Amino acid sequence: MTARIGPASRVLIVVGIVLIGLVLLSKLSMAVALGAFAVMLVAGLLAGRPVPFVASPATDVVASALAVPGISPIDPVIAALPDAVILLDRDSRVVAFNPPARAIAPALARGTALALALRVPEIVAAVREVEATGEARRIEYSERVPIDRWFAVHVAPVAPRFKLLAFQDLTPLRRVEEMRADFVANASHELRTPLAALSGFIDTLLGPAREDVAARERFLGIMKGQAERMARLIGDLLSLSRVELNEHLPPDTPLDLVPIVRQVADGLQTLARDREVEIHIALPDEPFIVAGDRDELTRAYENLIENALKYGASGKKIEISFNRAPGVAGPEAVVRVRDFGPGIPAEHLPRLTERFYRIDVGHSRAEGGTGLGLALVKHILIRHRGRLLIESTQGQGATFTTRLPLTGSAT
Ligand code: ADP
Repeated sequence: MTARIGPASRVLIVVGIVLIGLVLLSKLSMAVALGAFAVMLVAGLLAGRPVPFVASPATDVVASALAVPGISPIDPVIAALPDAVILLDRDSRVVAFNPPARAIAPALARGTALALALRVPEIVAAVREVEATGEARRIEYSERVPIDRWFAVHVAPVAPRFKLLAFQDLTPLRRVEEMRADFVANASHELRTPLAALSGFIDTLLGPAREDVAARERFLGIMKGQAERMARLIGDLLSLSRVELNEHLPPDTPLDLVPIVRQVADGLQTLARDREVEIHIALPDEPFIVAGDRDELTRAYENLIENALKYGASGKKIEISFNRAPGVAGPEAVVRVRDFGPGIPAEHLPRLTERFYRIDVGHSRAEGGTGLGLALVKHILIRHRGRLLIESTQGQGATFTTRLPLTGSAT
């Protein structure tokens, strides 16, 4: 008791002396001084009491969990955590763990030594360091088998010499980093090629071909083509980043898809004649109203129809159709662009909308392609809360289907 209220009684004595001093100095009436002292006394006694909730059930749960590992009530707490967590006892044996931890280390079992259940030298070393220093540590490690995965592990000391291992899966972050690095590498490679061609021709025109009028004409023509290719690439990169930037803001202008697709098809008639391809477009009687951005939708259908003309020319015709179909959140406008060309081998289908992914890079370049067209279509549709479906049977052409949510009427 003395020990418990010791500091409080010292405070009370000091306060009492100060109050008496103030009364003697006539700064305070005796009644006010006594009242103030009584309040301090009650507060001091309350503060000095053992506070029951501090050593409350939570502490008891933890204490008993740590004391009786076999029937640990801490299990439900650990099981409820979304990331992998392992609790180790003072001998670094497993006391508790959750299903995500079992997914990382299938050999985990209560009572097993950590070093046997999880053969990661970095973690074992970190646990030893935590034991030695009593301070938390964070390490990162990676796995190669069965697939590449990266983890961060936070090892913290808890209770008497117990350790808690909390895992954070870094794989998605690493993948995004890799994709970004690949993208920059691809984009600079795509730009460097025409740039190298341009500077090569400039050197030739300044040197050996200086007086050669015929060569100059030819080289200037090639240089113009390369400069246009760079401009297309930069244009596509900018459009793509603009669409991605606005992806969270769906357009809200009601538009009729039918005239948009028809105008795109009309605009590509010259290319179709050059390739000897006929465009059959089945125009519906009623409008197909979607909330959209006219320029973006025009761009998306331009890419799809142009691709069908470029890569499916051998089929001699393309068909464009409109349908309505129920979707997840209501009726959808289904626009199909079908060609009868060589089609697309199944293994390429899932990757076609990746930036710079091309089945035949030479063919794509010869057609003026940047490898960004379908990525742009995909992101435009995502911004419009729609999607792109690609179906193909090799030798029988390809069908690119857009699905967009239908809304009310156009303005
Ligand atoms: P590109 O600028 O190369 O045309 P896209 O992203 O538009 O880029 O298309 C990616 C690749 O998909 C093309 O290089 C081509 O190999 C393939 N592809 C696209 N449309 C078709 C199609 N209708 N038939 C066959 N292959 C196609």
